[in-house]
Amino acid sequence: MRKIAILGATGSIGASALDVIARHPRDFRASVLAAHRKVDELVALCVRFQPDLAVIADEALETTLRDKLATAGLSTRAAGGMAALNEAVAGDLCDTVIAAIVGAAGLESTLAAARAGKRLLLANKESVVMAGALLLDAVHAGGGELIPVDSEHNAIFQCLPGGRPELGAAGVRRILLTASGGPFRGRKRADLTTITPDQACAHPKWNMGRKISVDSATLMNKGLEVIEAHWLFGAAAAQIEVVVHPQSLVHSLVEYADGSVLAQLGNPDMRTALAHALAWPQRIDAGVTPLDLIRSGALQFEAPDRDTFRCLDLAYQALQTGGTAPTVLNAANEVAVAAFLEGSLPFLAIPELIEATLDAISAEPVAGVEHLLHTDLTARQTAQRKMQQGFC
Ligand code: NAD
Ligand code: MG
Repeated sequence: MRKIAILGATGSIGASALDVIARHPRDFRASVLAAHRKVDELVALCVRFQPDLAVIADEALETTLRDKLATAGLSTRAAGGMAALNEAVAGDLCDTVIAAIVGAAGLESTLAAARAGKRLLLANKESVVMAGALLLDAVHAGGGELIPVDSEHNAIFQCLPGGRPELGAAGVRRILLTASGGPFRGRKRADLTTITPDQACAHPKWNMGRKISVDSATLMNKGLEVIEAHWLFGAAAAQIEVVVHPQSLVHSLVEYADGSVLAQLGNPDMRTALAHALAWPQRIDAGVTPLDLIRSGALQFEAPDRDTFRCLDLAYQALQTGGTAPTVLNAANEVAVAAFLEGSLPFLAIPELIEATLDAISAEPVAGVEHLLHTDLTARQTAQRKMQQGFC
């Protein structure tokens, strides 16, 4: 019986993970559930899954959580704040951690799980973008394992030989990351001047949280995933190519020196990647509708439109610059996306704000987690200031 901590239990990945866990009650138990502020949703999940511990990241809500758990007659303990979350992740209550908090807020708990040697199921791509080398070091030092849950990286993991091979020695030539193209595929800049948050969040293939939905619409999601692939698989930027595939059935591919290209296919449903990562190296039912290739029809592949969706190249540039540049990219993107979702920044200004922030902050070699957290904060403040100054 594996004991699973789900960080971001009230989110989209959290729901998919709990669905898979509920299908296998003899193999998996949700022992720790954590959320940001949605106490009622967290308590409802506790009623259903009876975890040992529920953690609300906003410390001010700890008492409310405790009272509501007691009123519901549950023996689930309550905790509040990020320190409590990091402690729970590192402790005996879990052996597997699903890192599914959105954004840089997930960095410290992801690192805590890695250091503690847990099986780390990584959905929180922002943490590997910010702190790729530190995270891999922490996994190594902790003696646990990291299994990617992001569907593309999970696909690549499945297409590579076992273990974490050196790509050259394994005969890998390139990694092909597929992208749906998002809701605005085929549109040009002139068509994107009045995009609303709801339009940007209406993803054609995946039902996800709002931040990653906007990232998919700008192609920053793919940019973050290029950086993620660099760290997770030791691939140079030039070895990672993005291919737009609107059907979202091929989740990514690995090209080998002999000309073989291995792909992982399936219906677009995050439960496949989560079930794979939970059970690896076994295979279990994920509740996903089987792929019917005859009904799904033709599969298309095309080049991304890098002029319209500039975030992709900004991410490649940050990867090539290295050091703290990806942390700045990520922080500026989080500020820009939040402002866009609030209605205070136009869609097309998202890459402009990121670029202006990257230009304002020189990249430095990464000195440690504190340095990255400081860089993250500085980049957020810079991006906010630039917005107030009407940078564009
Ligand atoms: P979501 O917005 O649906 O859920 C986010 C979760 O994080 C919620 O449970 C929320 O309570 C929690 N959270 C937010 N801020 C927090 C904070 N400051 N402290 C603690 N908890 C906090 O997001 P999602 O779509 O589930 O995405 C989660 C992560 O997984 C993101 O990093 C995203 O890029 C990644 N991911 C998501 C998908 C997907 O299909 N949804 C696919 C691949 C990767
Ligand atoms: Mg993905």
